[in-house]
Amino acid sequence: LGRHKDDHRQSGFTYNGVEFSQNNLNIFAGLCAVDVPEHVEQMMQALEDNGEVCTRMGAYKPRTNPYSFQGHGKGCLPWVFEKAGKHGIKVIAMEITHESHIEEIDTCLEKLGRPTGVMLQIGTRNTQNFELLKAIGRQKTYPALLKRGFGITLNESLNAAEYLASEGNANVIFCLRGMKTEAGQPHRNMVDFAHVPAVKRLTRMPVCVDPSHSVGSRDRSPDGILDVMHATAQGVIAGANMVLVDFHPKPEKALVDGPQALLMKELPAYLEDI
Ligand code: PEP
Repeated sequence: LGRHKDDHRQSGFTYNGVEFSQNNLNIFAGLCAVDVPEHVEQMMQALEDNGEVCTRMGAYKPRTNPYSFQGHGKGCLPWVFEKAGKHGIKVIAMEITHESHIEEIDTCLEKLGRPTGVMLQIGTRNTQNFELLKAIGRQKTYPALLKRGFGITLNESLNAAEYLASEGNANVIFCLRGMKTEAGQPHRNMVDFAHVPAVKRLTRMPVCVDPSHSVGSRDRSPDGILDVMHATAQGVIAGANMVLVDFHPKPEKALVDGPQALLMKELPAYLEDI
């Protein structure tokens, strides 16, 4: 990924017709967690109406509390993938927490005739799960989206990305999603989007920002602008190549991270502002 002294390859890749590079920008608005078909349908319809071809959909959720909703897992994959195909979604960013999930996704997509594509997301809690990284690195069908570890150094997170490439999969996007601080307020995490240019300088990976998990709320500044929007702007102005952002038709009914989800009616303005 550019961290080895003899590696001078070009940045970026194309997956399922979508280009990812250090010179362009893709938006992945979607549901943090898949819940009911109606909400997935509404989300994908809104994306299609706004000309978007990528989304985020969580089927396997890594939760801090074992009693919280853990995601529908492989059970929801067929209808999520079918709906994606119906609405022209080409790439779904989907977190996996175990290497067996790669096969579950692959088997399902194959059975359905590959109506859409999947980018395998590695969450911040798994940034240094080296066996998971190696498994994702060994397969070359799906690109990877690696989240920065929220409590480790940037260098350690960049080395984690290298685990994917060293096993053979260099189609990797690096995602900044905020850092844990002792204060924990007013945002859930300390927004770290000033590191976008640093990661682009240090590696050849396209860089993603996740304003939703950084800010963690729908708070607004006194001028009425959502903090998630301010954070998005910081990331995009800093040169981000991808934005991963939570929306939900009914945030109060969302099973994961509802308080940070933007409303469907805010989608057109959000995209326009970006
Ligand atoms: C997510 O994107 O759904 C997620 C859980 O993010 P993170 O790993 O950054 O907490």
